[in-house]
Amino acid sequence: MTGQQSDEAMKSNIERAGKLILAGKYVVGITGAGISVESGIRPFRGPGGLWTEHGEPPMDGYQRFLADPKGHWEQRLKRDNTMSEFSQTIEKAQPNPAHHALAELEKLGVLRYLITQNVDNLHRAAGTKKIAEIHGNHRKLRCIQCNSRYDGEEISLETLPPLCPHCGGIIKSDGVSFGEPIPSDTLRICVEETSKCDCMLSVGTSAVVYPAAGFPQQVKGGGGTLIEVDLYETALTPISDVSLRGKAGEIMPQLVNYIKANL
Ligand SMILES: [Zn+2]
Repeated sequence: MTGQQSDEAMKSNIERAGKLILAGKYVVGITGAGISVESGIRPFRGPGGLWTEHGEPPMDGYQRFLADPKGHWEQRLKRDNTMSEFSQTIEKAQPNPAHHALAELEKLGVLRYLITQNVDNLHRAAGTKKIAEIHGNHRKLRCIQCNSRYDGEEISLETLPPLCPHCGGIIKSDGVSFGEPIPSDTLRICVEETSKCDCMLSVGTSAVVYPAAGFPQQVKGGGGTLIEVDLYETALTPISDVSLRGKAGEIMPQLVNYIKANL
């Protein structure tokens, strides 16, 4: 089923989802591109996707970077002068009510951790603190040797490629490139949080890209519950205990209101 559920069905589904979340001992959220669409960020794949329109980037981006980090940085700095469409939208984007709702669930002590596949920084901008950005954060830089993250202004670009002040390793953008392994520290946190989780709340992810796709399956496999919030049916729908079908920016605040009223 796609499209919006009737008001009555939605109300009863929100109540069911809220009860499962309140019954959860360790609730973890997982989000993907769908949550940021309402902030004006186009997804990469699917209808209206940036890659659908412009073509997929090279699948061996990380190998190309390793082969010539200096050349990659020179190109990147040149490109920054004419910021890509994605960077322009992302710079202007603001968190929407769904991002704020997840940040509020963390403040309430209901949401223990958030795993996101998004690089857009909007969860942090909304105030979420306990977060693993599995594909990195577009605003940050990362040492490929020791995984230290830096804000752009912390790293001198006088000589290229820039080197890590901590260990001397090569610095690249924190966003995980095609062909690049998920940074080991981030992956370890995701695995640890998922193993503790007995109720997962999935928002705006089609859950087809691994490793993120495996986390909800693991929670279900361990006897936990799964709630999904998405405009469309996803690969998670068949294993979800409750599917809330509609805009995350409209559904999530209602879910938080139910939880607050019943805490
Ligand atoms: Zn380093």
